[in-house]
Amino acid sequence: MTDISTETETDYDFVVLGAGIVGAAVARVLAGYRHRVALVEARDDVGDGTSKANTAILHTGFDAKPGTLESRLVARGYRLLSDYAIQTGIPVERTGALLVAWNEEEFAALPGLQTKAADNGYPHCEIVDATEVYRQVPALGEGALGGLTVPDESIICTWTTNLALATDAVARGVGLRTGTRAESVTVAADRTTLHTTRGDITTRWVINAAGLGSDYLDRAFGHNRFHITPRRGELLVYDKLARTLIDKIVLPVPTSRGKGVLVSPTIYGNVMLGPTAEDLDDRSATGTSEAGFEFLLGKGATLMPRLLEEEVTATYAGLRAATDFGDYLVEVDADQRYVLIGGIRSTGLTSGMAVAEYLDELLANAGALPGARDDLPAPPRMPNIGEAFTRPYQDADLIASDPAYGRVVCFCERVTAGEIRDAYASLIPPAGLDGLRRRTRAMNGRCQGFFCGAEINAAVEAHPCPRRATAPAIKKEPAR
Ligand SMILES: Cc1cc2nc3c(=O)[nH]c(=O)nc-3n(C[C@H](O)[C@H](O)[C@H](O)COP(=O)(O)OP(=O)(O)OC[C@H]3O[C@@H](n4cnc5c(N)ncnc54)[C@H](O)[C@@H]3O)c2cc1C
Repeated sequence: MTDISTETETDYDFVVLGAGIVGAAVARVLAGYRHRVALVEARDDVGDGTSKANTAILHTGFDAKPGTLESRLVARGYRLLSDYAIQTGIPVERTGALLVAWNEEEFAALPGLQTKAADNGYPHCEIVDATEVYRQVPALGEGALGGLTVPDESIICTWTTNLALATDAVARGVGLRTGTRAESVTVAADRTTLHTTRGDITTRWVINAAGLGSDYLDRAFGHNRFHITPRRGELLVYDKLARTLIDKIVLPVPTSRGKGVLVSPTIYGNVMLGPTAEDLDDRSATGTSEAGFEFLLGKGATLMPRLLEEEVTATYAGLRAATDFGDYLVEVDADQRYVLIGGIRSTGLTSGMAVAEYLDELLANAGALPGARDDLPAPPRMPNIGEAFTRPYQDADLIASDPAYGRVVCFCERVTAGEIRDAYASLIPPAGLDGLRRRTRAMNGRCQGFFCGAEINAAVEAHPCPRRATAPAIKKEPAR
C-alpha cells in the first residue's frame, strides 16, 4: 500500500473523521471557510468503506418517510449531486425506475406510495397497469400486476462521486490523512486531542462522519445515544451481455427492512441483482456468502428469469450503518465542539452533499464559521469511467494527441495506459490496486484481473506514487 496522505500537520480547526462520501462532502464544505481542515481516514484510501459498495442509485427520495431529516436531505442531495455531477463529470444515467407489484397486497400499496412520493416533494410517479409494465421491461418474469413509475431515479458512479468530493476538498486545501484511525479522544477547554494510530492530532472541532464506526467514536465523546448494526447487502453483477435485458431500475415494493431486491443496469454497462439485507455483529463482514447467492438467485428467478442465463462476473457486499432510529442523526454538541453524523444508512450516496450543506447551517448557527473564502478553485474535472459516455479508448483526437490513451491494458473494461498514468498523477492517487480499480475500472471486468493483472502491475510500477505536497496554502482564521 502507498501512503497517499497529503500532509503530516497535527493541529487543525476542524478534523473530519471518515473519508467516505459524507466525510469528503463535509470536508469540502468546511474548506470553503478560512479554516485549517483535515480529513482523517482509518483506511489507506478514500472511499474504501460503505461508499464503495452500494447499489449506486441516485435516489429522488420518493419512498422516504415524509417529514424526516432523511427525506429532506435525500431530496436536496439529489439536486445538489445532479448539478455537481455535471460540473465534475461524475457519470450519471437518467434511466428512471419502475416499482413493480407482484401480488394483490403490493398492488394495493401503489396509491399509498404515490401519495408518499408527493408528500416527499416528488409528484411525478404514475401508477401503470401490467401491460405497461411489460411494455417498459419485456424481460420481466411472469406475474406482475402493475407498477409505479419513478422517472427521475438514476444510476451514478459512487466511486467517482467519493473521489470527486475528496479531490475537491484537497484542492481547497484540506489535509488528507489516510491510514490514521482515531482511537480515543481527550476533550479540553479549547482543543480536543484525537489519539490516533499515527499519533495525536489536536483540533478545535471534530466532525464524526465515521459511518460504521460512528457510534464507537460518539461514545468516546461521552454519549450513549445509538448503536450501529451492520446490515449486509450482497449483490450479483452480471455480464455486459445482459445489459440489453433492462434499461431502467426495477424496484420491489419497499418493506420496513429496506428497499428490497432490485435489478438495475450499472453505470459500467453491467446488470446488478441485489441487495440482500442481513443484520450482523461483525462490522468488517463484507464478504459474500453462499446463502446470499442462493437467495438472490431465487429472487432473480421471479424477477427476471432470463437474467439467470447470463454469467455472474462479480459479487460484492456492503454494510449499511443501520441504527435503532428511523432517521439520520446529525447533532451538534457546541460545548465539546463536536458534531455527530450518524445513521446514514441506505441513502448516503445521494444525500452526502446535502448532509454537508445542513452541517454548514448548523455550524453557522453555532457561530463556528468565520469568513467564507473567495479564492476557491474550480471543482475538479473527473475522468469518465461510465459506459454511456466517451471513454479514452474511443476518442480518436485524444489518442492522436497522446498514444497512451490508445494502448489498452485491461481488455474487459477497455482501460488504457494513459488512464492508469493519470490516476497515479492525480491529487489523490490510488493507495493500492483496489483503489486503481475504483478510479479506472481496471480489473473490474469478467476476468477480474486474471488476464490483465500482470500488465496492470507493470503499468503501476511504471508510475510509482510520489508523496505530493498539499494543495495551495490558504490564509486561515481560527475557528470560534
Ligand atoms: C448494499 C447497500 C446499498 C446501498 N445503496 C445505496 C444507493 O443506491 N443510493 C444511496 O444513496 N445510498 C446507498 N447506500 C448507502 C450509502 O452507500 C451509504 O449511506 C454511504 O456510503 C455512507 O457514507 P459514509 O461516508 O457515511 O460512510 P463510509 O463510506 O462507510 O465512510 C466512513 C469512513 O469512516 C472511516 N472510519 C471509521 N471509523 C474511523 C475512525 N475511528 N477513524 C478514522 N476513520 C474512521 C471508515 O474507514 C470509512 O471509510 C447503500 C448502502 C449499502 C450497504
